[in-house]
Amino acid sequence: MRPISYLRAEGTDAVDSALRAVGGDPGSDFLAGGTTEVDLLRQNVLGPRRLVDINRLPLADIEDLPDGGLRIGALARMSEVASSPAVQERFPLVSRALVLGASAQLRHMASMGGNMMQRVRCGYYRDGESPCNKREPGAGCAALAGVSRNHAVLGTSEHCIATHPSDVAVPLVALDARIHTRTLEGEHTYAIDDFFLEPGDAPHREHPLTHGELITAIEVPALPMARRSLYLKVRDRESYEFALVSVAAAIEVRDGKVSGVRIALGGVGTRPWRARRAEDALVGGPATTKSFDLAARAELAVARTTPMNAFKPELARRTLVRALETLTADGSPS
Ligand code: SF4
Repeated sequence: MRPISYLRAEGTDAVDSALRAVGGDPGSDFLAGGTTEVDLLRQNVLGPRRLVDINRLPLADIEDLPDGGLRIGALARMSEVASSPAVQERFPLVSRALVLGASAQLRHMASMGGNMMQRVRCGYYRDGESPCNKREPGAGCAALAGVSRNHAVLGTSEHCIATHPSDVAVPLVALDARIHTRTLEGEHTYAIDDFFLEPGDAPHREHPLTHGELITAIEVPALPMARRSLYLKVRDRESYEFALVSVAAAIEVRDGKVSGVRIALGGVGTRPWRARRAEDALVGGPATTKSFDLAARAELAVARTTPMNAFKPELARRTLVRALETLTADGSPS
């Protein structure tokens, strides 16, 4: 049994006291909803000596921005964001991704900031014993020659092929969200493209945050075409399951031609995957199934598979085509 001490940050100085407590001690970590962190503590994958509970910090509001965007507090719960009328109306792809993630109980506990920080579901990482470069740099990667059906096909390296697990991060990448953070030195803002790192030769480094840097909010810029958008998730069972493939998409069509499009893929990348090749292939061209198919193929041409996950590029192609067909058909996306 490993002792862990607990400190609750509260009061008028709560944010600064949490920053001081964690920033000044390499053995301390923040604790928000705990829906991933507590599992990993139990499995001895994470080993902090102290947890600093940040649940009472005033970081849970969902605020309108002057341009029509939203600022979502890092401690807003997944279920609160999913049911927010502003999110449902302006960014239905975000709401849908949240509703399709985890279980109702977990959505009530899990925070948006914690969701950005959730760890991979690779079984070799979580068993605490198998060779895993993410858990123990330089140890090797058991998944390369092991069970890899759910692993990534985009953004992989010879050091790690774990899939990024988040649903809601996928539409946030499509929407060019920004991640706001604080340290004792001040505030910082990351473009979401710079926030999620590919494994390369350092898979243990998943984001650019320093120890003690706290996510305070996620900013979603206004995007009128996102009012008609969707999140399509394909998985082995209908609920409480991670994506084999998911697609977050918004598209704008004028006179039969694509005038704007945003696409990101989940379940296939080592990070939430912005499909820029597909977007570039689509803009200015006809909004037809053939174009959608060519764009999907362009995106997935760089996929690298294992014998167990070789089905993923084709599943991703079909899912992306279906998402764009749904958005451009008459009637509302389902
Ligand atoms: Fe570890 Fe990544 Fe390999 Fe899984 S895929 S065993 S997380 S290095």
